[in-house]
Amino acid sequence: MTVYNFSAGPAMLPKPVLAQIKEDIPSFQNSGMSVMEISHRSDLFDNVIADAKNDLRELMNIPDNYKILFLQGGATLQFTALPMNLATQYNHIGLIDTGHWSTRAGEEAEKIGTEVTTVATSKNNDYHQLPEYTDDDNRYDYIHLTTNNTIEGTAFSKLPKTKNVLVGDMSSNFLAQQYNVEDFGAIYAGAQKNLGIAGLTVVIVREDLIGKKPLPSMLDYQLLANKNSMLNTPPVFAIYAAGLTLKWLKDIGGIAEMEKINRQKSNQLYQFLDQSKMFNNLIKPADRSLTNIPFVTGNKELDQELIAQASDRGLVNIKGHRLVGGMRASLYNAMPMEGVVALTDFLEEFEAKHLE
Ligand code: PLP
Repeated sequence: MTVYNFSAGPAMLPKPVLAQIKEDIPSFQNSGMSVMEISHRSDLFDNVIADAKNDLRELMNIPDNYKILFLQGGATLQFTALPMNLATQYNHIGLIDTGHWSTRAGEEAEKIGTEVTTVATSKNNDYHQLPEYTDDDNRYDYIHLTTNNTIEGTAFSKLPKTKNVLVGDMSSNFLAQQYNVEDFGAIYAGAQKNLGIAGLTVVIVREDLIGKKPLPSMLDYQLLANKNSMLNTPPVFAIYAAGLTLKWLKDIGGIAEMEKINRQKSNQLYQFLDQSKMFNNLIKPADRSLTNIPFVTGNKELDQELIAQASDRGLVNIKGHRLVGGMRASLYNAMPMEGVVALTDFLEEFEAKHLE
């Protein structure tokens, strides 16, 4: 049985990436050592990290004045590291509140004494749409924006207009759709959705924003940049897997091509949901995510039955997040169109049986 994993993360890896990992495990590039064993101070690994950085720079068109950091601690640690490094002028950030993860970013910044002002929120709409935001003066060290809301199922395809530095948590649509890096002062993302495996977090940061004050070493972007992300032992295997994933993405044709495919995949599911009499996606169409699609029947028992039957068919992890209930299909880059078709076919069948 073919299994399609619709998890919000850790997510599916592209099949060619898995195949390459399998091939490399016994002996990486004829070294006689597996990739997990090679020293991060070796030439072998120097090439791995350099390739991964160059490929990411090329794919996202990252200008030279942005540093690329490969870190640990997940996107969650960056909720703390970002205000430490960037909130140095006003010690005050603006938060665009679009749901759970943006709220978490604000909470963690507050814990280290940074003032957080919610400058826009769609809480009153149950986060079923994105809030409007624009400003024309610079009062915050940065405005924090979650480009894709993994749990709620919304995404910013057009960024708000701001005179402030914009910081983007891109965890769940990193490399899935095109953004202009220069619109951001910093971008960060955990790897476990579109860049490989958990344990690696990418930070892309404009160099003039960092190095403003001494910080604990492992949280100091400037120091980490100076040390080429190898202040201590880096997550060697996760960086290697990210490198393979980036090569796969280049082979596909880059982010523009990936976005096209992701739009086709999400359209397939949205179109089904919009004509269905049983299922509903509650998100305002213009604000819908390409990567995380929540849907409901409004009946908890029916949801449970559906999730169990889907799993029996190899359509796994479609249970919705506990905060919103129902179901959620995450269609990250590695999910093939066949998986989405298998899901919509199954939903159609399920609906027909129950509406008989
Ligand atoms: N931000 C977003 C948008 C997420 O989806 C997640 C995890 O799903 C996180 C942050 C937290 O990421 P991590 O588990 O890497 O700390």
